[in-house]
Amino acid sequence: MKTVLEKNFGFTSFRPNQEEVIESVLQGKDVFVLMPTGGGKSLCYQIPALMMKGTAIVVSPLISLMKDQVDGLLADGISVAYLNSTLSDSEFVEVRKKLTDGKLKILYMAPERLMMPGTLSLLQKINISLFAIDEAHCVSEWGHDFRPEYRKLSELRTHFPNVSMIALTATATERVRKDIVSVLHLKDPVVVISSFNRPNLSYKIIEKKDPNEQIISYLKKNRKKSGIIYCQSRETVERLAERLTKAGFSALPYHAGLADSKRSKNQEKFIRDDVDIIVATVAFGMGIDKPDVRFVIHYDLPKNLESYYQETGRGGRDGLECECILFFNRGDWHKIRFFIEKKPSKKERDLAFQQLSQIMSYCESTECRRNTLLRYFGENWTEPCDNCDSCLRPRKKFDGTAQACLLIDC
Ligand code: ADP
Ligand code: MG
Repeated sequence: MKTVLEKNFGFTSFRPNQEEVIESVLQGKDVFVLMPTGGGKSLCYQIPALMMKGTAIVVSPLISLMKDQVDGLLADGISVAYLNSTLSDSEFVEVRKKLTDGKLKILYMAPERLMMPGTLSLLQKINISLFAIDEAHCVSEWGHDFRPEYRKLSELRTHFPNVSMIALTATATERVRKDIVSVLHLKDPVVVISSFNRPNLSYKIIEKKDPNEQIISYLKKNRKKSGIIYCQSRETVERLAERLTKAGFSALPYHAGLADSKRSKNQEKFIRDDVDIIVATVAFGMGIDKPDVRFVIHYDLPKNLESYYQETGRGGRDGLECECILFFNRGDWHKIRFFIEKKPSKKERDLAFQQLSQIMSYCESTECRRNTLLRYFGENWTEPCDNCDSCLRPRKKFDGTAQACLLIDC
């Protein structure tokens, strides 16, 4: 395992839980992996795929994610391919030939492709080492990204009763977890759950007064660092990117209102370090793997704690420090409320209000930020982290018994 890690991927040590997962897969067991974004889930199936006989079939939801992974593996000299609608007829024939000749170690495809009768019968003819279901939360209607095509994977087990399966996700809720295991018919799976703690991220909340000036003064002290600034609206993104450029910083906007070509160009420039700062709406981020993001600033209140965790999680992927700063002002509550009230379904409105009140209490609390976040994900943390504003600058406490008694009339 270690040799493959070093020789094929150029890394010197495993991340937490990777070894345990790889070992279980090599023993032919079904495995369920829950690891935060950036935790290193891909290696958990790529290394066994290289070590086992036959071809590993990897299910992935997005063509762009598939392409990134395959390009990366090809650059590492691994025989890998994908099957999807972007292939020409001749490319398709070529991949099929490599597959039937046993020349591929890994083959990526979307679930709808895998479950086509033609693909299933093709796969019956070859030696499959394992099935890896990436972004496995997509099978669950309780998750935030349900995809009906993923649901069809529940028949996979009937077609291949003896091939082991590994399911991987970063979505933490218990309900989704159970759903994945039952939909995919995992057999006595080894369940490996990593902590969602990201010790190298520091969390800080700053009172939002004049955010443009506050950000500029922060950037002056952090020149040339790479960072993301999230704003709620496209207008704020445009205005702030322009303001920063005028103030002499290298910044570009990113939001769904930009033309596709412009958007991918700006993203590309950020990833390649041609620009330091990307000012973006939440449209930015899915599948971005830039290792050295040194700050993630929230100009506005994120819509819930899960989003906040995922968005800040794009920082410090290389394990080095990243400052996560949220500018908070009670007034933001009204802005979000306005959007929530426009939602047509009562159920959605209720859920959104509940989530809003959770993030409000996160912002207003004097407790360790990290502990509050991790408790939200069901982990039991109580020790102060010493790397958030609450721990580093605890607010003054005083005995308020007398005042409290006056208030409640006791
Ligand atoms: P996930 O799918 O869990 O979000 P990835 O598999 O995309 O995470 O890995 C995130 C980043 O971490 C990638 O750049 C990957 O190359 C890197 N990585 C994974 N495992 C290791 C390791 N053992 N040592 C160093 N870097 C690693
Ligand atoms: Mg991944």
